Amino acid sequence: MRLSIIIPVYNEYDSIPELHQRLSKVAAAISADYELVFINDGSKDASLERLILLAQSDARVFYINFSRNFGHQIAVTAGLDHCGGEVVAIIDADLQDPPELILEMYKKHQEGFDVVYARRAKRKGENFFKKVTASLFYRLMVKITSINIPIDTGDFRLIDRKIVDCLKQMPEQNKFLRGQIAWAGFKQTSVEFVREERKYGATGYPLKKMIRFALDGITAFSDRPLTLVTQMGIAVSLIAFIIILYAMYAYFIYEKTMPGWTSILVSTMFIGGIQLISIGIIGLYVSRINKNVINRPLYLIQNTNLKK
Ligand code: UDP
Ligand code: MG
Repeated sequence: MRLSIIIPVYNEYDSIPELHQRLSKVAAAISADYELVFINDGSKDASLERLILLAQSDARVFYINFSRNFGHQIAVTAGLDHCGGEVVAIIDADLQDPPELILEMYKKHQEGFDVVYARRAKRKGENFFKKVTASLFYRLMVKITSINIPIDTGDFRLIDRKIVDCLKQMPEQNKFLRGQIAWAGFKQTSVEFVREERKYGATGYPLKKMIRFALDGITAFSDRPLTLVTQMGIAVSLIAFIIILYAMYAYFIYEKTMPGWTSILVSTMFIGGIQLISIGIIGLYVSRINKNVINRPLYLIQNTNLKK
């Protein structure tokens, strides 16, 4: 198999026909030996029925139907686990990522690059909040991690089989593929594109999922939050020490102590707040350790037309 294209699908009924048509055209232009691997991530609409029909009429279409919604990163992981291509492209199903760009990515691969990611030169149709938070997040990641996660890129990319094999060796339960691929190294480059608006349907990434995803990325690739907690602890302890000295002086030498309601209230609140934040940050890491120790399967497949 020369080329596999992996497409995670969550409620994308309306976009599937156009997507299939455009992807087939692009893939055929690269090699006659290709496969389209759709992962139905617990869609609530009739996406699965559409995929099954497609697979019946097109022998190059494969689907993996999850037993429920496991999330976008897990869906892509399942695709990587089951695809057979020497070159693998990952693309969203909502046509925000133009399929035709895969041709350009493939050219770069032919020039010798192992990872060709698509950088969003512009994002159309996404609201101000999403653009700003995404932009801040990527810049924060660059600051607090030691790996070079490319700014303004998603998972739309083309990777060599080498990289797929590396990813399969990474056992983490909380996947952050764009970070893992950056971590892998090898020869990486980018192509630029304008991210279109979603043509059909609605985003499957509401704020809650975005925050969880961001925390997965941070905890998997940085210890900075933990260092920060320690630094906060040291700073607060220093201040506390000075206040203790002052309190002793006021009591034993100056022999005049105040009623002190405000100062006690303020310091208790302050230290209480810092403690809760610290425990919360440590909790983020502990919960992820917990998940990895339990080590459940990442996903369950209900049915598929892939031959194992
Ligand atoms: N997706 C998925 N599972 C989910 C949410 C999304 O497989 O739980 C798929 C979705 O069908 C799409 C891709 O992941 O192909 C990106 O999701 P979406 O377009 O909703 O995210 P956005 O572009 O708004 O960040
Ligand atoms: Mg989208």
